[in-house]
Amino acid sequence: MSLSLFKLQGKRVLVTGGTQGIGFSIARGLAQAGAMVVINARKREKLDEALVSFEQAGLAAVGVLFDITDARQIKDAISDIEKQHGPIDILVNNAGIIRRGPAESLEEQDWHDVILTDLTAPFLMSKYVGQYMIGRRSGKIINICSLMSELGRDSVVAYSAAKGGLKMLTRNLATEWAPYNIQVNGIGPGYIATPINTDYRKPGNPLNDYIISRTPAGRWGTPEDLVGTAIFLASAASDFINGQLIYVDGGLVTSF
Ligand code: NDP
Repeated sequence: MSLSLFKLQGKRVLVTGGTQGIGFSIARGLAQAGAMVVINARKREKLDEALVSFEQAGLAAVGVLFDITDARQIKDAISDIEKQHGPIDILVNNAGIIRRGPAESLEEQDWHDVILTDLTAPFLMSKYVGQYMIGRRSGKIINICSLMSELGRDSVVAYSAAKGGLKMLTRNLATEWAPYNIQVNGIGPGYIATPINTDYRKPGNPLNDYIISRTPAGRWGTPEDLVGTAIFLASAASDFINGQLIYVDGGLVTSF
């Protein structure tokens, strides 16, 4: 197999929530592999900060502000990107939120917010980018799922439901759009150290100890741990892989 199979020169990738954490690392990794990156964010300041860091690293990126929970904004933003920058060859549905609390007392609004951001938004993003990809008979969609796509745990009922749904969205779109030469796959991160879990990583926090002892690799993952899989799923090396969810979790999911 030639290494050129993994190159992304000439490909344009849109990463939602690409200013920090996993999204930022994946965007940077895909840019380093040659892709032109479009970073989505909903806050101007964070977007500018991310773009400066790309520029300093000599990497090509543009930013687009929109909120992925708003169907109108998604539709307009995708149409603008296609017109102003060119075709979106690869979509990474990365942005996500989590709301924690026991199922019996979880606020209804928290449930709706998580389902909207973590499941409905990736569907809408895929729908509107997919329309262009179908026209071109080419495209790749990478959904950032979770170990919670597979496992249940205390106090994350909405998140688990959304990420389990995202796994099935991945499989369904893969089946429906494979005839159009579109591959839809997922990455299932284990516990990855990012701003989403800063509080839990403080030494002495029981959850920190639990995660390290429960993960067979014996450590938190880093956002960089996900980059190789993202490049693989974005590249021609994965052209005949469709509907799969690859866990990048230090062996966690298979150990249950
Ligand atoms: P972060 O909280 O660090 O980053 C999430 C990003 O999503 C932020 O940039 C945030 O922007 C953006 N975002 C949230 N809501 C919206 C919205 N409505 N519109 C646009 N952007 C939005 O999280 P991680 O990097 O840790 O997580 C990234 C993905 O990986 C998520 O889908 C998460 O569920 C998944 N994941 C993470 C794991 C982990 O251990 N870290 C484990 C398994 C899965 P803003 O600053 O505006 O809020």
